[in-house]
Amino acid sequence: MDLGIKGKRALVCASSKGLGKGCAMKLAEAGVNLVINARGAEALEATAAEIREATGVEVTAVAADITSEEGRAKVLEACGEIDILVNNAGGPPPGMWQDWEREDFIKALDSNMLTPIALIKALVPGMMERGWGRVVNITSQSVKSPIGILGLSNSARAGLTGYVAGTSRQVASSGVVMNNLLPGLHETDRAVSLAKGTSAKEGIPYEEVIAKRNAANPTGRIGTAEEFGATCAFMCSQYVGFMIGQNILLDGGVGNTTM
Ligand code: NAP
Repeated sequence: MDLGIKGKRALVCASSKGLGKGCAMKLAEAGVNLVINARGAEALEATAAEIREATGVEVTAVAADITSEEGRAKVLEACGEIDILVNNAGGPPPGMWQDWEREDFIKALDSNMLTPIALIKALVPGMMERGWGRVVNITSQSVKSPIGILGLSNSARAGLTGYVAGTSRQVASSGVVMNNLLPGLHETDRAVSLAKGTSAKEGIPYEEVIAKRNAANPTGRIGTAEEFGATCAFMCSQYVGFMIGQNILLDGGVGNTTM
């Protein structure tokens, strides 16, 4: 399917690995030129080379911490005119509700709420002027169905969701489409480290944690970065002009709700 976005330019944050990389690769397959980002330069350059080799699009790689003001400035300087923004960053650490202090919340809010908002504020005005833009915020299934030990994530992402709900409707008439994409469990480094954490905490072998986790999903497995990226690319396509401020859940049906 031609997504109708060939030649557009996208910033995909936190994209040397995992879900961000999945999104970058699928946008590149649709002919979108990219600015990709992560803190670690080595993995980032390797991903940039892999995407160029696979798709032939232009890829600019900017090694920077997207959650810091200096990091964002460095990324934005390399951006030029951006048509598509995919907001992403590492998730906050797990823990227990009674242990989190103000500083922990501030850090989570900075990473997973205020960073995407800062990038929206920096890039959406240009999209509005040009009459076309797409924003996809990678959040989490925890927005719809809280995960107790990820309370910092539940809180920060709910804040971003509220902001996007209002803002997406304010910018829609300018041709800017803004939505959130909510991953359930996907096969990435983050999922491996969460499973290792459960294994250590509960004293269960890692393989058993994985088997239980997969069995708990209606599909009998967890998601892949490739299918996640394909959904993201569709949400950045020409075909989503009437999808505004939505929260698209990709969880294999594990959230047992009717709507
Ligand atoms: P991942 O496999 O750990 O990959 C994270 C990517 O982001 C890496 O490229 C990493 O590179 C980069 N990154 C992390 N922090 C960064 C920062 N401050 N600045 C720039 N780049 C940064 O993670 P993932 O599984 O793809 O998860 C992506 C997001 O989705 C996270 O917020 C996660 O909480 C959320 N999520 C994931 C799942 C899942 O099952 N995978 C489920 C629900 C929600 P560097 O480390 O080199 O910076």
